[in-house]
Amino acid sequence: MDIKNIEIICVVGAGTMGPRIALQCAIHGFNVNMYDIIPDMLEKAKNWQKDNITDRVERGLLEEKDVEGTMSRINYFTDLNSAAGNADFVIEAVPENIELKRKVFAQLDEACPSHTILSTNSSSIKSSLIASATKRPNKVLNTHFGLVVEDGRQYEVMGNSQTSEETLKTAIALGHAIGLVPIPVRKEAIGFVYNRIWRAIKKAAMDIVDKGIASVEDVDRSWTAARPGAEGPFIRMDKIGLDVILAIEEQWYEDSGDPRDKPPKFLIDKVKKGELGVKTSKGFYTYPHPAYEEPGWLTRAQTE
Ligand code: NAD
Repeated sequence: MDIKNIEIICVVGAGTMGPRIALQCAIHGFNVNMYDIIPDMLEKAKNWQKDNITDRVERGLLEEKDVEGTMSRINYFTDLNSAAGNADFVIEAVPENIELKRKVFAQLDEACPSHTILSTNSSSIKSSLIASATKRPNKVLNTHFGLVVEDGRQYEVMGNSQTSEETLKTAIALGHAIGLVPIPVRKEAIGFVYNRIWRAIKKAAMDIVDKGIASVEDVDRSWTAARPGAEGPFIRMDKIGLDVILAIEEQWYEDSGDPRDKPPKFLIDKVKKGELGVKTSKGFYTYPHPAYEEPGWLTRAQTE
């Protein structure tokens, strides 16, 4: 399908990611149907979008004159057939549960026209595990948005062995059309591109501390001294939450079965002790910590 034929995008799930994705599409001129089973989530999504749009105007990312038009392009539904029945492209953002995603894809397959592309924003579930829930596996793929969905941010596009070239091309063209930087992932792989790089950094950082090569602070200090302004890997992990980091490691291990992918004991112990990072005031660091607000503190603390 040519990108010119995409007029209506359906975003399924109005939690953290759905409202962000829907707003970015609407800002770039697409009509968006947002669907959630919980009316309150749609109400919250609309309010979040209004606030975010105001913030973008204040930051000079959007002109005031475009605000009303953008919001008018988003419609909110609690009925799947109304939301998906006229959609050309669907982006699913329901919770990270394979059975739920398969159920939603089967429903979408029934509700959508035959030309509609069905994509999942899943962080770790490959589309090959979902496609067989539909009768259109050639039109099913992963489109992975990051938490910040704004112009210039990355958007990973990953098919599976059944996804057609045309579907991939359309999904990439959509990324360009909504101001993002599409990253084609040429082989189905857990973690896409960015998260594979980030995972290697996380694992290396933990390995250094585990082997007694350097302390948590010195690993972060080394990183920020080499890359001024950048957060060290341990501060970053504490912000994300060590339970989340552990869940991701467990998912990798389940996917590969490779003993090298086993979550480090060091991390398991922290989570067992309830040291989950910033949210519990203790993780790799104890909070409040000056390096939390200002990564440069770590290097300055040694030179002052
Ligand atoms: P979330 O839990 O914040 O929101 C999910 C929404 O889906 C909720 O509003 C819920 O009411 C709704 N929902 C549940 N069942 C539904 C159904 N059957 N039909 C329609 N809506 C339904 O989840 P999230 O954090 O937005 O994550 C969504 C997806 O995006 C996940 O697959 C996740 O892995 C992925 N993702 C998340 C992030 C992140 O930082 N949160 C980043 C990238 C990708």
